[in-house]
Parts: sequence; C-alpha cells; structure tokens
Amino acid sequence: MCRTVVDMTTTATSISGFQGQILHPHNEGYDEARRLWNGAIDRRPAIIARCTSAADVATAVRFGTRHDLTVAVRGGGHSIPGLSMCDGGLVVDLSLLKDVEIDPVRRRAHVAPGVLLGEYDAAAQAHGLASPAGEISHTGVAGLTLGGGVGWLSRKYGLACDNLVEAELVTATGDIVTVDESTDPELLWGLRGGGGNFGVVTRFTFTLHEVGPLLAGAVMVPMDQGRAALRLYAELCAVAPEELSLSVACVTAPPAPFVPAELVGRQVVVLSMAWVGDPQAGEPWAARLRGLRPAVDLIGLMPYTALQSMVDSGVPHGRGYYVKSEWLGEIDEPAIDTILESLASMPGPHEQILLRHMGGAIRSVPADGTAFTFREAENLLTIACGWDVETDAPEPHVAWGRELWAATRRISTGGAYVNQLDADEGIERVREAYGTRTWDRLTALKRRMDPDNVFRLNQNIPPAPR
Ligand code: FAD
Repeated sequence: MCRTVVDMTTTATSISGFQGQILHPHNEGYDEARRLWNGAIDRRPAIIARCTSAADVATAVRFGTRHDLTVAVRGGGHSIPGLSMCDGGLVVDLSLLKDVEIDPVRRRAHVAPGVLLGEYDAAAQAHGLASPAGEISHTGVAGLTLGGGVGWLSRKYGLACDNLVEAELVTATGDIVTVDESTDPELLWGLRGGGGNFGVVTRFTFTLHEVGPLLAGAVMVPMDQGRAALRLYAELCAVAPEELSLSVACVTAPPAPFVPAELVGRQVVVLSMAWVGDPQAGEPWAARLRGLRPAVDLIGLMPYTALQSMVDSGVPHGRGYYVKSEWLGEIDEPAIDTILESLASMPGPHEQILLRHMGGAIRSVPADGTAFTFREAENLLTIACGWDVETDAPEPHVAWGRELWAATRRISTGGAYVNQLDADEGIERVREAYGTRTWDRLTALKRRMDPDNVFRLNQNIPPAPR
C-alpha cells in the first residue's frame, strides 16, 4: 500500500535536481493545476511537479517511488475518470512540455507530452501535414495516443497509435529510454494502445501525411427525420471507401448562430463527414447527406484545423461528465429504435449519443499488431452524459447513460474503448477492452517494465505474477 501523504513543510526546492515548478496545496496556482476537463473530479494531491524536461520527469518519478507516493501522470488532463489526478500523492504534470518539431522532409513529428491536439495540428498543418488524432482540439496528444486515438483521418491513415514510430520514455526506475521497432518492438507494441502502464512518455514521434483542406462538415435534422439520418449513416458505412469518414451525434441543438431558432433546445441528429482525399471526389457523398434536406448544412471545403475544432464547444471544460463506450457491429433497425428512444428521453441538454464509423486502415493492421485490439468493430459508440456541477445531480444522467449502453450490448463486438472507460467499470472491463490474448501479453510486459505497478493510476494492467 502506498503512502499518499507527505510532509507539508516540504519546500519548493525539496526535490533535489528538479528544475520545474513544485506546487503544494498552499501555493498560488495549485487549484488551477489540479483542475481537469471533467468538472466532477475534485482531487487534492500533496505535490504537483510541473516538469520542464524529461530529466525533470525522471527526477519526479524517482522522488515518488523513493517516498512511496501514489504517482499520477497528467498530459492533456482529459482522462474521463480523472486518473491523471490523485488525492495526496504526487502528480507528474507534463502540461508545460509543449514542443512540437515538424520534419517535413522525413515526414516526422516530434511531440512533447503536454501538447494538445489543436496545438499539434496547427504546427503540422503549417507544412500541409497531419497525423491521425481525436476530434476535440483541447484533448491531450499523450493519453489519446497511448490508448489508441480514433479520429477523422483514421479510416485513411489508421489510429494515432498506429502512426507512433518512436517514443522517449521515463521508466518506473527513473531511466530515460528511447523505444522504436528496432530497440524494443514489444514495448513499442505495448505503447500502441496499452495506455500509461509502462512509463511516462516524454516525446512521441509520429509519421505525417499530406492533408490539405478537406470537403467536410455536418448536416442537422430534427428528430422526426432522425430515423432517415441514421438509416443513411448505416447504408453509407456499408459501402464507404476509406477516404470517407462518417459520424453521428444525437444531441440537443445548441443556441449557435447556424441553428434555426425553432430547433434550438430540441433533439436533433447530426450526420457528419470528412472526405480525406481530392475534394471533388467527395462531392457525391456530400450530396447523399444533403439529400436528407437538412435544416442545417455545414458541409464545405475547410482547413483540417477547422474540422478538428468543429465541435469543441459541445464538450467544454468544467461540466460534470460520465461516459460509456462500446465497440459495435453494424447499426441495424432495432439499434436505431434504441438510439431514437434514448434521444427522446435525454435527461438534460448536455447528453450526447455518438457513433463513429471504424474500418478502413484501422482494420488493415492485424489484431496482434498493436496493444489496441478491437479492429474488427464497425462502429464506436460513445455515450457522453453531462451536467452542471453547481446546480445539477449526476444520478439521472448516469442512469440514462447506463440504460442506453445496456440496450446496445446486443450488437457489441466485444468490450469498450480503453480511452473511454469511466471510474465505475472495474478491472474486468479493462481486461475485456483488450481481450485475453492481448491482456496476457500486456501483463507480461508490465511485469518487465513496472513490476511494482508504480504507474497504476490509469486503466491499469497489473503485472503478471512471477
Ligand atoms: P490525461 O488525463 O492527461 O491522461 C489520460 C491517461 O493517460 C492517464 O491515465 C494518464 O496517467 C496517462 N498519461 C497521460 N500522459 C501520459 C504520458 N505522457 N505518459 C504516460 N501516461 C500518460 N479519444 C479518441 O480516440 N478520439 C477522440 O476523438 C476523443 N475525443 C475526446 C474528447 C474529449 C472532450 C475527451 C474528454 C476525451 C476524448 N477522447 C477521444 C478520449 C481521450 O483519448 C482520453 O480521454 C485520453 O486519455 C485523453 O488524454 P489526455 O492526455 O488529455 O489525458
């Protein structure tokens, strides 16, 4: 059992050799630094070590293990269950590590672990390049990549973790190592989906791809056209080439300037697309979406960075959030019934039912090629429940989310997305998220890299017994 309390008289200079900023509960900036995206998380670490280099990370990890402290690792701070913050203990805070280096000749990006998706995308797009990431620009590159990383480019170029070719890592013993296919293929395999279990990544190296302005955007229909929109989504998924990326959001229409007044506050279905290729060739697919005669049509040529921040405002920092996810097969008629019934019974305006089409290049990697396992899934279902933490109680939102999730298990292809597991899921769901064969390989790797489970504040993979 780890101690989680340290001597509060410890001063800012008490971690010998640490060059960054140390924050204790009495320091200015402490409350800001302990805040995560999910406003329902309210944890008070004893020390927040704001690192400015890999050497700082190594010093902080060694300090944590020497003093037997619970160690949390914070990248972009978007862990849904708040695993990047602890009560008592030490937070290795990477959020000041913001370097992005783009090598346009070798098509490589070197990205520090405090970089957010929007910052990375902007730096790469300055050269007309990008690598797959997620869809909300304020998410962290670090946690997203280590758990998989699904986004608009994934059907064409794979997951974020598929494009990770090298990593610099601080191990549980505080050593700094560089990992690639030639130095340690098994560890690189584990970093591609196995989360933060094997060490603290202090530099990610990604393969870059040419990505210009895209034909992309969304159409919005009122709920009485929802069935048609969901049917069209399922129909297009069945025939989509890998350039076509599709998603659905069932939400309450926000009071945005582009939403007609009569739809604001009403439940709607939003069907979104991106064509990752020559924009002209995507027009027939855009026409299919426009064939719904939507109330809102936002499809057009747009910079990749605009696509990547298109729905940021739907998931702001500070709300309470609860998320459930599941890998699903094809969306059939009973699934459409379930989704529409749940849309109609949303307990508040911040609930979201999201479907993302998988397949394409995601499926071209063998299931044992990375620690990320569920490559056969047709869809990722994400149920995001949100509430105002000042005025609202979580229970009705959480109950609604669980009920919908239970109803969709019928078409599950097995398990959850490890980056979208919430606090109440338990180790069996983590194991399920990997499947037995990958799990056994991961626990063996964990035994080699972190036998004392120093890095356990994550979707934890325990070390295999000796
Ligand atoms: P953090 O809270 O900083 O970290 C998450 C986990 O990773 C923690 O366990 C932490 O300890 C560990 N970790 C962080 N940095 C490191 C590091 N450098 N080395 C080792 N371990 C580390 N996922 C998708 O695939 N696609 C999406 O489009 C997408 N959209 C999202 C949108 C929102 C608003 C949110 C909240 C999440 C989204 N996700 C998406 C899920 C996302 O991938 C995870 O929440 C991810 O863990 C966030 O990473 P982070 O660095 O921001 O989080």
